[in-house]
Amino acid sequence: MLRLRALLLLAFTALGGLALFVSRSQANAETIRIVAPGIWFREGDLDQGHSNNVIIEMKDYMIVVDANYPSGARAAMADVKRLTSKPVKYVFDTHHHGDHLYGNILWTQAGATTLAFKAVSEELKRLEPARWQADAQRREDVAGLGQNGPEPPKQDINEEAYVLNDGSRKVEFRHFGWAHTRGDGFVYLPKEQVLCTGDAVVNGPYNSVNDAYIENWPNVLHSAEKLKVKFVLPGHGMFGGRDLLTGQDQFMTELFKAVKDGAGQGKKVEEMQSSIQLSMAVNQWVGEPLLKQQIKAAYDEITQHKPKGEITN
Ligand SMILES: [Zn+2]
Repeated sequence: MLRLRALLLLAFTALGGLALFVSRSQANAETIRIVAPGIWFREGDLDQGHSNNVIIEMKDYMIVVDANYPSGARAAMADVKRLTSKPVKYVFDTHHHGDHLYGNILWTQAGATTLAFKAVSEELKRLEPARWQADAQRREDVAGLGQNGPEPPKQDINEEAYVLNDGSRKVEFRHFGWAHTRGDGFVYLPKEQVLCTGDAVVNGPYNSVNDAYIENWPNVLHSAEKLKVKFVLPGHGMFGGRDLLTGQDQFMTELFKAVKDGAGQGKKVEEMQSSIQLSMAVNQWVGEPLLKQQIKAAYDEITQHKPKGEITN
């Protein structure tokens, strides 16, 4: 714990001291930090399977990035109430995974509108309610809702970009293509140069690739890299600077290339799983058991000439 504190302090210093510790939720280890005035980063508790949340203040209302799991949604709602008396009007699901979206129904009940890029709803149609039902077997918060499946976002975004601007702040919702999932959505605040990435960027060995298109992932990040970005707020792990975006890009690029080279030499996937070494520069994203899964997924993508779960539109 002390070591973690020291690391966090270092991270704050590296960010120019802008990241102020604000508060700690009472029921769990989740913390909220100010990124810029009216923009809070809420770090999800990995032990509870929670995603991160971003809370954005507008003139008369709040926007929350990611619905989280139901237990995370409840905790995030309580935190928003401690920050402001303004209502949450929009909850943006960055993608279809349960840790980012299964809390939707709770936000709807609280009066918010959930929204996401269209492919999020399409992926839910393809994959649910099987995943929800599997989660309900092991998670009380999911089972406790008494539903048969997740509530899809109430509003689909059919274009590549959608903007909310109430005069106090401009919030851009952007889709750059398929990386972590088909419906990956980013939230960009141009004035504050803040980019919320969902799981298209994570800070740590948390890259889940079950629904990913690994070869295309760097292309998506290249689009994001064209934006002016000072702060990157990832789906899991602490927030950071622009180097999180470029580091994640390098990790995915190296991973895909290593597996492609290995496959080209006729190596078996098990062989690669025990031999592939990525550069020290991407070390923070490398960890087991995910690395073995990432190598297998990249191998499948290469040998089957398609990303998993391809849908023809
Ligand atoms: Zn995810």
